[in-house]
Amino acid sequence: MSDKMEFRAEVNKMLDIVINSLYSEKQIFLRELISNASDACDKLKYLVLTHPDLAKSAANLQIKILPDAEKNTLKISDNGIGMNRDDLINHLGTIAKSGTADFVKNVKDNGSGIDLIGQFGVGFYSAFMVAEKVEILTRKAGEDKAWKWISNGTDGFEISEAQKESNGTEITLFLKEAEKQYTDTIYLRQIIRLYSDHIGYPIVLNLGKAGEETVNTGSALWARNKAEITKDQYNEFYHHVSKNFDEPWMTLHFKAEGNLEYTGLLFIPSTQPYDLFQPDRKNGLKLYVNRVFISDKVEELLPNYLRFVKGIVDSSDLPLNISREMLQQNPLVAKIRNGIVGRILKELKNRIGKYDDYMTFWNAFGAAFKEGIYEDFGNREEIASLSMFHSTSDQNKLTTLDDYISRMKPEQKAIYYITGDDVKVADNNPQLEAFKANGIEVLLLVDPIDEFWPQVLTKYKDKEIKHVSQAKDEFKPVRDNAVKAKDEDLQKLTDFMAKELNGEVAKVTVTEKLTTSPVSLTVEDGQMSIHLERLMRSHQQQTAFASLRVLEVNPYHPLIIKLAEAVGNKAQKQKLSDMTRMLYDQALIAEGEAIKNPSFFAEKLSEYMAASF
Ligand code: ADP
Ligand code: MG
Repeated sequence: MSDKMEFRAEVNKMLDIVINSLYSEKQIFLRELISNASDACDKLKYLVLTHPDLAKSAANLQIKILPDAEKNTLKISDNGIGMNRDDLINHLGTIAKSGTADFVKNVKDNGSGIDLIGQFGVGFYSAFMVAEKVEILTRKAGEDKAWKWISNGTDGFEISEAQKESNGTEITLFLKEAEKQYTDTIYLRQIIRLYSDHIGYPIVLNLGKAGEETVNTGSALWARNKAEITKDQYNEFYHHVSKNFDEPWMTLHFKAEGNLEYTGLLFIPSTQPYDLFQPDRKNGLKLYVNRVFISDKVEELLPNYLRFVKGIVDSSDLPLNISREMLQQNPLVAKIRNGIVGRILKELKNRIGKYDDYMTFWNAFGAAFKEGIYEDFGNREEIASLSMFHSTSDQNKLTTLDDYISRMKPEQKAIYYITGDDVKVADNNPQLEAFKANGIEVLLLVDPIDEFWPQVLTKYKDKEIKHVSQAKDEFKPVRDNAVKAKDEDLQKLTDFMAKELNGEVAKVTVTEKLTTSPVSLTVEDGQMSIHLERLMRSHQQQTAFASLRVLEVNPYHPLIIKLAEAVGNKAQKQKLSDMTRMLYDQALIAEGEAIKNPSFFAEKLSEYMAASF
């Protein structure tokens, strides 16, 4: 008796894309099926740790490839963990991973999804690129029943009870007429070597009358000697562990020796994954103990700010029976993590000197990496030294803090920064006018995390790091023959403006910092910056209070001079009131803030523009 079942809707959609729109590099289906077989062997090996009775079934783990040119079929079998009926339905009838919708969208947007197949956990379905029918015969280790799963990839699948001697999975592809080449042993050997050489179990190719041949090297790649591993082999291993298909930007293969021994094979991708900033993203490294797979995505092995690092760690010092819960408390795990962080930071230091190369890394991961300045107390200064920032000194090039320091003026005591939504808006903020007039460089910080790390890194190499608003009147622009409003008039004007804007600004003050703008907005000392307030609002975070804002006026600006002269004049009161509001609106706009009453602003602006002719 067999049960006929439908694929879940998202599987259908995805299958349709995989089969019909991804034509290039069809041979990757074999890599995906071998990768699954290898995972299945890993899982069985791990299960044996807690179920010693299964040890016999885990002997001689291997992957077999059996082509049959006459029947035009290709069989991929393993003696790994196998699947029971529920596994078949849950793993091959639905897509458990949350990324499916993103996968479909990505393919639609970019026209190709071949690189994304593995990343979205839909590797198995790539079999339908070359097969018109797929049959799976499988039996789970430790269980008696075996199951057969059949599908043509479009009309759902059928499951029935079956017979199978031992645990493991046998996948038979009934190849499409046009895909006969996948029964050719020479071609098969070539693609297995190309994509799967790093697999840690023997991949045995059946050559028919000529017998069998183990095609891959068969030992875990990270355990081999560095000198014997080619770049292509590293890259393929990276593809396998990361499920990414770009070139890794960094490949780091090392052996830590001493009182704690472990091997690491780590990679930094060269492109940003679509979900780098999604909170439900699963991060971490694969953990092995003496080549035995222990766990996927062990978050304890990486700090969050290095969540883009992929790869494996193999340690002989951890207990084989270590569980997920124990990983969290094991002090050796924390030590390994520290060691890994140190290696990565050192390697970044080696490469920061090559600007274009480093920017590949920085553009993809800089915004996440900088979180480390906030998070990683012990490495704070080092992470800062490896970070790149936009600055007013060069629009087209980012700078390090050290380079910034090397350009500091002799009298300049601090490193100055301003935050904003983007580089242009930040660069045009009137708060920078005095800095620019004096040739003082300012860092333009535009990532959300930039609001937070300066709160903990208040100094770098003895130089204070200060928001421009904390600079007070440290820099007064040099003004030739400057005409300034009279002090007593200014006092009256700022009083008047403060009254008009009561409830919106805490106070109105006179500043020496502005050159071209009549006004600018800042906050009282110790208050959350306006940009941060906006960020919190956009994340629906309740801000306990809105920051107390300060409107600063430029006493040298012709408009301010006129307003100061007019402030006692009753006849001008309405005009003064209108203009106060308009100036405040202007200051908001320069900050990137929304104004309260845009139609008032537009109407008054037109009115005063018309009056100027
Ligand atoms: P992924 O490998 O990313 O999980 P796949 O689409 O390649 O996604 O496979 C889906 C799931 O099907 C696997 O996670 C595994 O549970 C199951 N599976 C596939 N092939 C095998 C196999 N040879 N042995 C046991 N389970 C398998
Ligand atoms: Mg897979």
